[in-house]
Amino acid sequence: MTWATIRKDAATRARAVLPDPDATRAGFDWDEARAMLDGMPDGALNIAHEAVDRHVAAGHGGQVAMRWMGKSGERRDFSYADLAEATARFANVLKAQGLERGDRVYGLMGREPELYIAALGTLKAGMTFSPLFSAFGPEPIRTRMEIAEANVLVTTAGLYRRKIADWAAEIPSLKCVLVVGDEAPEGCVALGPAMAAADPRFDVVHTAPEETALIHFTSGTTGRPKGAVHVHGAVVNHAMTGRYALELVPGTKFWCTADPGWVTGTSYGIIAPLVHRCTMIVDEAEFDLDRWYTILQDEKVEVWYTAPTAIRMMMRAGKAAAEPYDFGNLRFMASVGEPLNPEAVVWGNEVFGQPFHDNWWQTETGGIMIANTLAMDIKPGSMGKPLPGISAGIVEREDGTLRELKPGEIGELALRPGWPSMMRAYLHEEARYQKAFVDGWYLSGDLAMCDEDGYFWFVGRADDLIKTSGHLIGPFEVESALIEHEAVAEAAVIGIPDETAGEVVKAYVALNPGFEPSEELEKSIRGHARKKLGPAVAPREVVFRQTLPKTRSGKIMRRLLKARELGLPEGDISTLETDEK
Ligand code: ATP
Ligand code: MG
Repeated sequence: MTWATIRKDAATRARAVLPDPDATRAGFDWDEARAMLDGMPDGALNIAHEAVDRHVAAGHGGQVAMRWMGKSGERRDFSYADLAEATARFANVLKAQGLERGDRVYGLMGREPELYIAALGTLKAGMTFSPLFSAFGPEPIRTRMEIAEANVLVTTAGLYRRKIADWAAEIPSLKCVLVVGDEAPEGCVALGPAMAAADPRFDVVHTAPEETALIHFTSGTTGRPKGAVHVHGAVVNHAMTGRYALELVPGTKFWCTADPGWVTGTSYGIIAPLVHRCTMIVDEAEFDLDRWYTILQDEKVEVWYTAPTAIRMMMRAGKAAAEPYDFGNLRFMASVGEPLNPEAVVWGNEVFGQPFHDNWWQTETGGIMIANTLAMDIKPGSMGKPLPGISAGIVEREDGTLRELKPGEIGELALRPGWPSMMRAYLHEEARYQKAFVDGWYLSGDLAMCDEDGYFWFVGRADDLIKTSGHLIGPFEVESALIEHEAVAEAAVIGIPDETAGEVVKAYVALNPGFEPSEELEKSIRGHARKKLGPAVAPREVVFRQTLPKTRSGKIMRRLLKARELGLPEGDISTLETDEK
């Protein structure tokens, strides 16, 4: 079954920031996005200035910038003036520790206020910030700190003792460890007293647009994570996409559920909402259905940016779980990180009265590239269209050059370089970086298709493609069909070598509550897939799993299922969330 297009009515289109996205794209110039920013004298541009200080200078210091919700129910509001002051103090602490412009500051902690203050304070000081996910084990933390030659680590005493203390002295570049709170383990500096003693004013460093601001490690879904280098100029793209793809305007109550340990949690969990003078909700806790529904309702969230893995968890709990809540303030919902199954789009429409708007981008692109925006009709399962200023195509390699494919043909998703938030390097991997650019295109490593109307459809990662009896199968299509079966909550599909077919399709599924694994159920799921997809594409075998292996950013790690299936080495699993073998 193909899913019916969800049409937007005239009233929705009229309230959209971009009422006619095609027309805006046609006439777009990046100056339009630059005009959303203030800039600094002599062409300087600093993300933290755009995100915080300029709003205070313009008289908006009293507005709430961040509402922080602690794990155990505490709540703290930070106004723009509070954030300006705290980040200035943090920048002064860095200076007092003898650090200089260009030094590299790592953040390793949960979603605590200090993480946000450290990120912005570092940028103010003209230093580079690199967020790490607090759940990483010591080894992944150490490797990343070594690769990026960390000069400072900002963390908590607990994390320091458990994960860092044993080897901190062996990192030659590390000059200082700042620890949240009033007391610090030996060799560390307590941030509390240092901040209290610091000057609450700081002249934001006039960084050049090309100066490095952030280093983000990729999710490690397909292999060893790469360190993508981003510059202050990226804020031009954060401004454009925050406004056009996420509908952020001054005062918007915005909740991005991603952890800043991943690029989404920084680009859209810190920078874009503050640049647009929104109030951002930060929840320290992990996913919990009732907690999330309560936050959406009680905090009167207007724009919500989340991920397919969370949406599937909500779907697993059923529509009834959402019924007691009032989501009347929500005016836009978006999703990123993995393909969003069409069923999830339609489910959103039924439960929240509007569809989830899928959008696509990568750590490397620094910001959203392809999106379903508010005014667009939604084709469930499609990632939408390139945003203004973004030129995307579907290409195929041919003797060292690239050929652009026609609508309907599957090839590699590529972008014309030149958007402001494009990565400037893979840290210490120049050859790999250069390989991503061919013939005037940046190659994403994802396979996709563009239809006659200009909508892009994700097919799979190039590495995950399955070749069976002359067919090329993208796992997404098969997984989406599988989760349409009433028993299936999540699915992952891989190809297994087969003498006659080349590869055959194998599926791993996690079940919805109320269903138990059985031979009969396996047959029923395979039968359902055969009906939907045809016998050539449907999985030969379906196995049941309590959970599927995922990265900490919520992406299914198909390569791990495959390695285990074939008895091959598991490769880099530093980003793996606990899973069941
Ligand atoms: P690594 O590059 O280390 O293997 P990763 O590619 O998962 O990890 P990220 O940069 O966090 O690291 O994720 C970007 C990738 O996520 C995209 O290349 C794409 O494969 C997938 N992705 C993101 N958004 C979408 C989407 N809307 N639909 C389909 N896939 C998406
Ligand atoms: Mg990638």
